[in-house]
Amino acid sequence: MTIYKIQGNIHDFSVLKPLEINNLLSPLLQQAAQISCECSSKSAPLFVTHRAGNYHLAKTAGSAGLHAQLCKHGALTAVRAASMGYASSALSNLNDEIVFSLDRPLKIGGENPSVVSSNVNFQGASKAYVRTVSSRMTLLGLLHVLWERARLHEHNPNNLLQQPIWPKLRAAAHDLRPKGRTDLAFGLSDIFLLPLHSQTANQQARNFAKLNGARNTGSMLLFVAQFSPKDIADLLNTSQNKYSMKSLLGVEITRYGNAPFLTNLASSFQNEINRSQNFGDPLIAIGIAKPDSKLPYAQISSMALMPVTGHHIPFDSSFEKDLADELINQKRHFLKPLRFDTKQDLQVHPDFILLDVPPIDIAIEVYGMNTPSYLARKAEKIDIYTAASTNIGYWDWNASQSPNLHAWLASKPLPR
Ligand SMILES: [Zn+2]
Repeated sequence: MTIYKIQGNIHDFSVLKPLEINNLLSPLLQQAAQISCECSSKSAPLFVTHRAGNYHLAKTAGSAGLHAQLCKHGALTAVRAASMGYASSALSNLNDEIVFSLDRPLKIGGENPSVVSSNVNFQGASKAYVRTVSSRMTLLGLLHVLWERARLHEHNPNNLLQQPIWPKLRAAAHDLRPKGRTDLAFGLSDIFLLPLHSQTANQQARNFAKLNGARNTGSMLLFVAQFSPKDIADLLNTSQNKYSMKSLLGVEITRYGNAPFLTNLASSFQNEINRSQNFGDPLIAIGIAKPDSKLPYAQISSMALMPVTGHHIPFDSSFEKDLADELINQKRHFLKPLRFDTKQDLQVHPDFILLDVPPIDIAIEVYGMNTPSYLARKAEKIDIYTAASTNIGYWDWNASQSPNLHAWLASKPLPR
């Protein structure tokens, strides 16, 4: 969500340095320049503003609704936040920034915040349904926010610019602000460590600078990394007294012995870990680390895991992974709507959305269980999203009865 059209030319801000952005925008201050956000098909108008020594793009009055759900220029209405499982106190939008509250402290020595649940009514096509929302976001929810802001939940076979994923995530962390943290100049990206990768030669130096900065200001760090099945086995192996993420992040993010977060990680993500160990899928980890008083060390204090396909599409079950791989194999253009902090069967969005059957989108549902309560929740979900969009088609796979996807496709092909 960093693609802008400025005076007829497309610019991707995720690959520009702050100085390059300033040079691009400064001549356009107070000009009636043609600038639009390309986060959605609606080309929402923007203008150039100036604050704290830097030039920024800001939305014009009345245009917030034209942006994508998690575009920083958009409007995270209470209904949009609720569809992701959040009360407005967990996720909101202010002054062309997205503001979030995590369910754990990001300041060293901070108290664990209290987490409050409340109920929200969603209007379906036939009636209203109750969904529970939370006043705080989990780490996994934050990873989903980053993934969607980076548009990594979309597969577009026609997009020949197969950009590396890590610079996109770095851009996604920009202007994503932990609530109340006005000390962070560029929001979350000030304390956000990314994996070493060939596209940013100086990532190790960046990570070291962030570790040092967080240590000096009493802040915790956030990191994202990709774990192979062997990396996960190493992390969980407590007979190894010291574990370090040096090879993944270039700095000494460590755990000693049987650190408390490990028990929680192994139980909360047991299915994901087992599947990765059995089938070799990579896991994307997001974690919090506390800088040591001694450089260059920090210790992991919590972590969450997200399974992805080889094309980095997240999935919630083996059936969903089969379907995502099949859609990629068939060169289909699709979205994987993320769950954020809604429970799997309480989501209000489809499991996938096909985008290449114009003029309508096709909602795709995968039925992995056939218990009455599960099927009732799925029916509610369809009722809710068909009420929200009058222009949507529908296809499903009853995987609990017909677990072989190819056999199912032979009798019920995907819409073309
Ligand atoms: Zn936008």
